[in-house]
Amino acid sequence: MSQVYNFSAGPAMLPAQVLKRMQGELLEYGNAKASVMEISHRGADFMAMAQKSEQDLRDLMNIPDNYKVLFLQGGASAQFSMVPVNLLHGKAKANYAHTGHWSKKAIAEAQRYCDVNICTDSLGNKYTNIDDFSKWHIDEKGAYLHYTPNETIAGLEFDYVPEVGMPLVADMSSTILSREIDVSKYGIIYAGAQKNIGISGLTVVIIREDLIGNVVANQPILFNYATQANNDSMYNTPSTYSWYVAGRVFEWLKEQGGLGAMAKINENKAKTLYAAIDGSDFYSNPVVEKYRSWMNVPFLLANEDLNGLFLEKAADNGLITLKGHRSVGGMRASIYNAMPQEGINQLVSFMQDFEKENG
Ligand SMILES: *Cc1c(COP(=O)(O)O)cnc(C)c1O
Repeated sequence: MSQVYNFSAGPAMLPAQVLKRMQGELLEYGNAKASVMEISHRGADFMAMAQKSEQDLRDLMNIPDNYKVLFLQGGASAQFSMVPVNLLHGKAKANYAHTGHWSKKAIAEAQRYCDVNICTDSLGNKYTNIDDFSKWHIDEKGAYLHYTPNETIAGLEFDYVPEVGMPLVADMSSTILSREIDVSKYGIIYAGAQKNIGISGLTVVIIREDLIGNVVANQPILFNYATQANNDSMYNTPSTYSWYVAGRVFEWLKEQGGLGAMAKINENKAKTLYAAIDGSDFYSNPVVEKYRSWMNVPFLLANEDLNGLFLEKAADNGLITLKGHRSVGGMRASIYNAMPQEGINQLVSFMQDFEKENG
């Protein structure tokens, strides 16, 4: 297979070294005499893998001891429900920042359980800008504040953490592990694995211990964080293969030098691509500069009639899955941890050639 760079928003590209390792281990995992897909999650081999993966994630993110790490199923979308069900704790209100498609979905789900106070709203600017924190209208009676640090579709990413005197909940699906963060500022961090952690089927939840154990009555047992925490995410069969892949990605990240090293690479990748977009009248990105995402870079062609040709030629050049989300149009390059600088360089050089031929 010739070299291909995959710009898919999710499920997304995996590091080539991780894929090769998965291939090498597919038939026989360690001394298990079977594939990791075929062994019990309660056996010694899998348990050792599970513990190591958690420790590696703790090391990478510097997760404080008073936080649990859960390896759940149901995607980020299940967390849209689990968060209100576990955190409302008798309160009737919660604060939500509306900065894009995914926060909108989180809000719609929370509205089934409580009165949602939209404390900031980016709909008016079509998800291209974020209000200064001083302009937000936080309802002090809210049980928590939920926000989406990186909106995957519009490519809108916070450059600050909205800290308030209530638990802060962050949907980090498309930005977790892209840089160092201070976990202690958050009550809950959650992320579907298929963007920057591994493959679909797994959701990582990092939760401060005091937020566990307050679930409202009569909810499904699996939707209680206490059930999951008290059983080390093995109340029922976890998504074993997805968990294993996440563990291999964590090891790979450590080999790269950790999140500080990844941040430098990611920042440089994003700078290269935005510079190419801004340096031409042929391409554009509408997001306010300081809120531009490091992970998802949407861009439009000045002549939309060329979209089809751009995608076709890009694919011919080994640059695949660049089609933008239907709500934004144009192109989107998702450039998660697994995308090397070389992939960005190839994309930029293709974009310049395409402009020369068609501009
Ligand atoms: C992809 C994505 C989701 C949806 O994740 P699922 O795992 O499919 O439920 C939610 N939030 C954000 C920010 C995403 O990027």
